[in-house]
Amino acid sequence: MASTFKLEIATPDRRFFSGDVEMVILKTPDGEMGILKDHAPSVVAVDIGPIKILQDGEWLEAVLNEGFMEITKEKTVILSDTAEWPNEIDVNRANAAKDRAEERLQRQLAQMEFARSRAALARAMTRLKVSKNVK
Ligand code: ATP
Repeated sequence: MASTFKLEIATPDRRFFSGDVEMVILKTPDGEMGILKDHAPSVVAVDIGPIKILQDGEWLEAVLNEGFMEITKEKTVILSDTAEWPNEIDVNRANAAKDRAEERLQRQLAQMEFARSRAALARAMTRLKVSKNVK
């Protein structure tokens, strides 16, 4: 049996995931990161993107928002602003959010609004991509 470690994912609304897993892959501002058992303790920023979780030999996929991940010897904890499983994603809503963000990005925007619109577009695009993998 593969070695496992404890993973917890929480948002302000709910405990999204809690379980023993073999591997996690997610997006950080420095690129994709994979975590296995006995990873060096660290705190890492989490970026908007898919998270892949290997549990009992099967890959689960979800969408994460911006957040943080703390890796300790005991467990790995991810705190994210929002999180969704593929079957929870409302595709029409994500398409509407994508259109709104793209429309805003066509305009001359102040730096803050540009960053907000770019993040909204990244969330919508990730939701659309991950929702295609509903089992
Ligand atoms: P919108 O403009 O549609 O609200 P958003 O990216 O600004 O999109 P968030 O602030 O990231 O939305 O999320 C607010 C709440 O709505 C969270 O609980 C999130 O899980 C949920 N949510 C956002 N978009 C979707 C979606 N397409 N399908 C399901 N839940 C969604």
